Amino acid sequence: MTKPSYDYDLFVIGGGSGGVRAARRSAALGKRVAIAEEFRFGGTCVIRGCVPKKLLVYASQFSESFEDAAGYGWSVGSRSFDWAKLIANKDNEIDRLESIYRRNLEGAGAELLATRAVLEGPHEIRLLATDKVVTAERILIAVGGRPNPFADMPGAEHCISSNEAFHLKRLPRSVVILGGGYIAVEFANVFHGLGVETTLVYRGREILQGFDDDLRHELHQAMVKKGIRIRCEDTLREVVQKPDGRFEAHLKSGDCLDADEVLLAIGRKPNTEDLGCEKAGVELDSRGAIVVDEYSKTTADHIHAIGDVTGRVALTPVAIHEAMCFVDTIYLDRPTKPDFDMIPTAVFSQPEIGTVGMTEAHAAREFDEVEIYKATFRPMKHTLSGRDEKTMMKLVVEAASGVVVGAHVFGPDAGELAQVLGICVKAKLTKAAFDATMAVHPAAAEELVTMYTPSYRLKGSERVAA
Ligand code: NDP
Repeated sequence: MTKPSYDYDLFVIGGGSGGVRAARRSAALGKRVAIAEEFRFGGTCVIRGCVPKKLLVYASQFSESFEDAAGYGWSVGSRSFDWAKLIANKDNEIDRLESIYRRNLEGAGAELLATRAVLEGPHEIRLLATDKVVTAERILIAVGGRPNPFADMPGAEHCISSNEAFHLKRLPRSVVILGGGYIAVEFANVFHGLGVETTLVYRGREILQGFDDDLRHELHQAMVKKGIRIRCEDTLREVVQKPDGRFEAHLKSGDCLDADEVLLAIGRKPNTEDLGCEKAGVELDSRGAIVVDEYSKTTADHIHAIGDVTGRVALTPVAIHEAMCFVDTIYLDRPTKPDFDMIPTAVFSQPEIGTVGMTEAHAAREFDEVEIYKATFRPMKHTLSGRDEKTMMKLVVEAASGVVVGAHVFGPDAGELAQVLGICVKAKLTKAAFDATMAVHPAAAEELVTMYTPSYRLKGSERVAA
């Protein structure tokens, strides 16, 4: 039987981190690849996520750096901050990165299509810009997600999401942020660092659910000390616009907060609406995410899905990894399942969080006995700056094997440290290997190899003497 001929070997829907990587790599292998993107190549990470966020984080750190400089003999003159200039410079950088993404795709031989593309059948894709239907042997869905708009809340239309936060015409004087996850916490620190009166409202008992409790607690305390207001066990009930254009954020507790902007950061939803999944036999779960097997294959045989749209782990490097596994599996005859074990991650708060592996609570549930090594100290830089801010480092060790199963850092550059600790924990290094490693001196990170005796042990969830 002759093989049916398709317009393309692979059609990728979505030009974000995952889609671009899969398209580039497949095209470089000689496959006939098209990639459709309805907005801008680069996706959430480059256009309205990780990259612009990090640039805003850098901008917001200068206010403390100017203050810290005084203890080192510097007199910093009068300061002013130009939001419009920051946003324009940030936009230039995003334009530059987007053009690199395009160039790399073109260089690999992929065809770039500036259109929304939806599924029309198991091998058919409709391009909405031209209303043309094209065919592909395989389809990869990598359409990502978007902020949850909290549509049920009265006044949700007055609120912004992280998308709009990157393009505000003016820096607000005050902001109320709803949520206690990555985006809420990072933006609270960014806005505060830029001089905005900031209130974070979170429904749970402590911000950053899922992170190690010490990290959550230390960051909460540090944010409050800086002047960020945090209202836990509360949420928004309604947002009302006042005649002067500002907003009243009405809380469940009955309190009302005035703000120039209300930012919702309550998680993200997969972009599967009107994607035509039903026409192609691609099943969705109850949250609207595409159901995939261990190899990222959907319920349709020739359709795979990667990245945030699958509702697995919503992180850029994970989407890229899934793309690599897809190409290995489909085009290189090396069936490869994405590996989600021990993913290091950072929260770009001030100070930062860098973390990998099991939290103390998780390890206590998992193992008979756990050793906790913990150091809390004032980083050397703050001896002269006078800033009253702590750094915390913590290793979680399975007592029986001596393997370090979790590493958690709260302090400057914790995100950078998480990358290296990620290798150690992924490689299942033992605490003895940490102890045998020479310290880098003087550095905050030397604490990681000089915590010789456990701070305490856990049997079950009970603390026993060290
Ligand atoms: P998260 O899932 O991290 O956090 C969502 C927050 O919103 C949680 O605190 C959650 O509370 C709260 N929430 C959810 N629903 C409601 C509701 N109906 N009312 C009130 N609060 C609610 O999502 P984000 O939006 O912060 O970020 C999305 C994803 O993007 C992250 O999961 C992460 O994977 C990725 N990201 C990664 C970054 C990084 O690597 N540095 C930076 C930014 C984003 P609860 O805890 O009680 O469920």
